[in-house]
Amino acid sequence: MADCTVVVPTTLAETLAVLAQAGEDAVPVAGGVWVTLTLRSGLVRPRVLLSLRRLAELGDVALEHDGSLRLGALLTHRAVERSPLVRAHWPVLAETLADVANVRVREQATLVGNLCEADPASDPPAVLAALGATVELASWRGQRVMPVAEFIRGAYETARDPDELVTSIRIPPLPAGAGTAYCKFRTRSHEDRPAVGVAAVVALDSAGRVTHLEVVVGAAGDRPQRVPEALAAVPGAEFDDELVTALADAYAGAVETVSDLRASAWYRREMVRVFVARALRLAAHRAGWCVGEGPRV
Ligand SMILES: Cc1cc2nc3c(=O)[nH]c(=O)nc-3n(C[C@H](O)[C@H](O)[C@H](O)COP(=O)(O)OP(=O)(O)OC[C@H]3O[C@@H](n4cnc5c(N)ncnc54)[C@H](O)[C@@H]3O)c2cc1C
Repeated sequence: MADCTVVVPTTLAETLAVLAQAGEDAVPVAGGVWVTLTLRSGLVRPRVLLSLRRLAELGDVALEHDGSLRLGALLTHRAVERSPLVRAHWPVLAETLADVANVRVREQATLVGNLCEADPASDPPAVLAALGATVELASWRGQRVMPVAEFIRGAYETARDPDELVTSIRIPPLPAGAGTAYCKFRTRSHEDRPAVGVAAVVALDSAGRVTHLEVVVGAAGDRPQRVPEALAAVPGAEFDDELVTALADAYAGAVETVSDLRASAWYRREMVRVFVARALRLAAHRAGWCVGEGPRV
């Protein structure tokens, strides 16, 4: 840390200029929860610590004209969890964040910091991927937008170039009548990170047929995973226990799982089966499906 400079810009342009010049030698700091741990353990030795805290322009929640939500990169978990807009239109995100770590961490840590950290044992990436969210990146070269599912490349690895800053997350409106759910499986303490986390979005027509269905599994492997082959045949199918079992089996058979302190790869696979079914049933219930009876009319 002896040769490290702390820079505290007040505008985005100033921030991007520092990143353009320092590149990999600069580490952006949002809430600092992860950065502090990696500095202390010597995992990173930056020449520049680039504090983002005074970039007021990255601190807003905004509803766009097309009904999508824009979340500025400096919003903490707690700010997003408590946002009336998020609670009203994307309640699964508020629920997910209310169950991350503890309130002290959530008051400090940002949602974008969580994505950029790309720790596989995280909750928000699976939910944001299931909601079809994108991240906006800015650099002196311009801007680009990419799906969250592509942004996270693997364990602790993202598609961000060293001179880029993530400026916001954008979440499109949910399909009409959609129900959403995130089911988190922990193996150690109540505050632990997930061993498996499954996000589901389900929308049904009045006859109980699927008009939209998405399932993303987080924390089982090195990145959020979906199984396109299993999802391809679902639109138009009747939502029932048979469909739930078929999807749960397909996901358990196809997702990659790892062994670590939280669970073995085998146990994770079995929990993927259980939690895919659980998340699908809860999302469908919230979309108006009554267990054993089909849709409520
Ligand atoms: C005790 C504890 C329990 C936890 N439990 C959970 C849990 O249950 N579930 C879960 O999902 N997470 C959990 N976490 C992780 C926590 O959510 C993340 O560490 C936190 O969100 C990181 O956010 P931050 O703002 O502090 O990021 P920082 O530490 O500031 O940054 C993290 C990384 O992102 C980069 N970065 C930050 N902002 C930007 C930006 N705008 N553009 C480009 N790069 C950027 C930084 O350079 C750094 O590499 C836990 C953490 C702790 C300490």
